[in-house]
Amino acid sequence: MKNTLSILNVPAFDDNYLWIIHDGKYAVAVDPGDADAILAALAQHHLVLSAILLTHHHADHIGGVPALLRHAAVPVYGPANDNIAAVTHALHQGDSVHLPELNLTLDVIAVPGHTLGHIAYFAPVQHWLFCGDTLFAGGCGRLFEGTASQMLDSLDKLAALPDDSLVYCAHEYTLSNLRFALEVEPENALLQQRMIAEQAKRQDGLPTVPSLLKLEKQTNPFLRSREAAVVARLLACEKIPALQDDASHFAALRVWKNHYA
Ligand SMILES: [Zn+2]
Repeated sequence: MKNTLSILNVPAFDDNYLWIIHDGKYAVAVDPGDADAILAALAQHHLVLSAILLTHHHADHIGGVPALLRHAAVPVYGPANDNIAAVTHALHQGDSVHLPELNLTLDVIAVPGHTLGHIAYFAPVQHWLFCGDTLFAGGCGRLFEGTASQMLDSLDKLAALPDDSLVYCAHEYTLSNLRFALEVEPENALLQQRMIAEQAKRQDGLPTVPSLLKLEKQTNPFLRSREAAVVARLLACEKIPALQDDASHFAALRVWKNHYA
């Protein structure tokens, strides 16, 4: 049964998006890097914090947790393998989180790469994906801890979710990501259309997140590293010396993005 949950976008820092899932009364904060931003949103919407969900250990995702726990002693769900002191419910691949106040169930997907313990949360009823810094609109997170092979496996898991899933990533990096995507696939018509649509949103001051997983699969080069056009471009631009395995192609794509202005 679909219930009446909503999601608030809480901008923080330069380009972070923190997320609040709520039913008009209770609220769950996802990756609350900034407690003040979360507390202001809770007050504005008259919401009671009932839980915190964390995807990985970086400060812009967990920095607000101590102050939020002083405000309300709520359970903190987070990755078992990312060593976050505040976590009360340590999660692994295949775990399921049930949040009774919201009647919300979330499946836990291990997505190592950006950090080794990184997890994503997928709501199988609503088709919402909270993926932290793993999959971005038009891009993916940097490989700070894991390997390209791990990240490719992680993104494959996310790409296998339903096409109509909404991708709630943690940063507004979309236009920068799409500029790179167009460098990789200049002939991709859907990508060209997406760039125009996302630029219009930004000009109107609107977020480009969440995005539709189907559109990511059609336009995000990091979900398309096996596409013939992408591999051909890696060769033509001398990012790979010859055809290699999938993980090597993905690694070359990620390195190319790291150095892309
Ligand atoms: Zn991060």
